[in-house]
Amino acid sequence: MKTIIIGGGPAGMLAAISAKKQKNEVILLEKMHQLGKKLSITGKGRCNITSSLETTQEFIDNIPGNGRFLYSALKNFDNDDIIELLGIPVKEERGHRIFPKSDKASDVVEALKNKLDGVRVITDIKAEEIIVNNGKVEGVKTDKGIFKADKVVLATGGKSYPQTGSTGDGYKIAKQLGHTIIETKPSLIAMTMENESLKYCTELQGLSLRNVRITIYESNTKVYEDFGEMIFTNFGISGPIVLSASAHLVRTKLRNAKIEIDLKPALSEQKLNDRVLRDFEKYKNKELKNSLNDLLPRKIIPVIIERSRIDQNKKVNEITKQERQKIIKLLKCFELEIKGFRPIKEAIITRGGVSTKEINPKTMESKLVKGLFFAGEIIDVDAYTGGFNLQIAYSTGFTAGLKQE
Ligand SMILES: Cc1cc2nc3c(=O)[nH]c(=O)nc-3n(C[C@H](O)[C@H](O)[C@H](O)COP(=O)(O)OP(=O)(O)OC[C@H]3O[C@@H](n4cnc5c(N)ncnc54)[C@H](O)[C@@H]3O)c2cc1C
Repeated sequence: MKTIIIGGGPAGMLAAISAKKQKNEVILLEKMHQLGKKLSITGKGRCNITSSLETTQEFIDNIPGNGRFLYSALKNFDNDDIIELLGIPVKEERGHRIFPKSDKASDVVEALKNKLDGVRVITDIKAEEIIVNNGKVEGVKTDKGIFKADKVVLATGGKSYPQTGSTGDGYKIAKQLGHTIIETKPSLIAMTMENESLKYCTELQGLSLRNVRITIYESNTKVYEDFGEMIFTNFGISGPIVLSASAHLVRTKLRNAKIEIDLKPALSEQKLNDRVLRDFEKYKNKELKNSLNDLLPRKIIPVIIERSRIDQNKKVNEITKQERQKIIKLLKCFELEIKGFRPIKEAIITRGGVSTKEINPKTMESKLVKGLFFAGEIIDVDAYTGGFNLQIAYSTGFTAGLKQE
């Protein structure tokens, strides 16, 4: 049996590894010069390999895009399996995130490449079409000629970070064969602002806040809440909690969406008031602009004062109770209006893709074309940050490689 895998990302490599275990003749086609280009930049070059969460259900809870479709695949090959397969030392960080101990995504790429023994890897080759006869796969047409095959795994990824090779080719190939492609959109993506909100973000550009609480509202209805790290940019906001929030928001109409940032989530309004009073006492003869350094990052002080509309040169001992409360309100609820998202090429993942209704969840085989299988981000599944998207790639890849005729 001859199996061709199209795409040398984590999904394609796992498919090749498991297909080879079935004693198939396996060819892995990759259009770039190297395998796993996107994998090598994951987790800011450190690669959040997977999550240490224990149950399949916990993984599914972190996959808002068709998580239940992945039940069998996640059971077939889970977080322990990938750690064992890689065979490199790993460590756990906040939020159950697993990273290589070396902090190098390239070690993960190398570990996977080392498991491709016996697989014929061809790089710099672009698959253009899958040849089908009588509803059954017969081969792959590439820019370097035709390859015959009894089984083809399409693992070409999504559309984000196109410079890594993920340019959405697989969607066109699958569509030609009659598959439905659910509209592709960015997910895990930075948010954009406009007007006054944009002005504040631009002023705060580069400021990273580590322990803040965000609450997102759509038409005054709370839709998301999270705690953690975010960053202001020249177009709006980004960072881990903003990216995770986007996975929710891309599912809404984004009507009158706003984000409230609690800059001091550990302190109640009363405790924060006591704290500000203490600082005001300490700096009572200073100007307001010089009295908040103990409490806030320097960069945000002028913005808070501007939003409070209090004269920044006013002496602290002249600040009224109402003015102090205005400041406290701003610290507990720094509000920004959300305009939209950055383009898909900047997204961590693509939402949408080959409809899960047309794929057998137990085998990843197409329900329309015999011998055609799908793996990884090309499928209409998407997860939150935390290593879940890579686990989807490994689990679906491994499953797709398994089945023999
Ligand atoms: C900046 C960034 C950071 C990320 N960090 C993390 C993280 O830390 N943890 C996590 O879980 N997820 C992370 N992700 C998401 C994760 O990288 C993807 O979900 C995962 O790579 C998807 O794997 P895949 O194999 O399906 O697709 P890809 O990794 O996109 O691989 C697809 C491969 O197919 C090849 N290809 C495409 N078309 C063709 C063709 N016509 N012929 C031949 N080959 C073709 C491409 O060149 C590519 O190598 C991150 C993503 C980005 C962009």
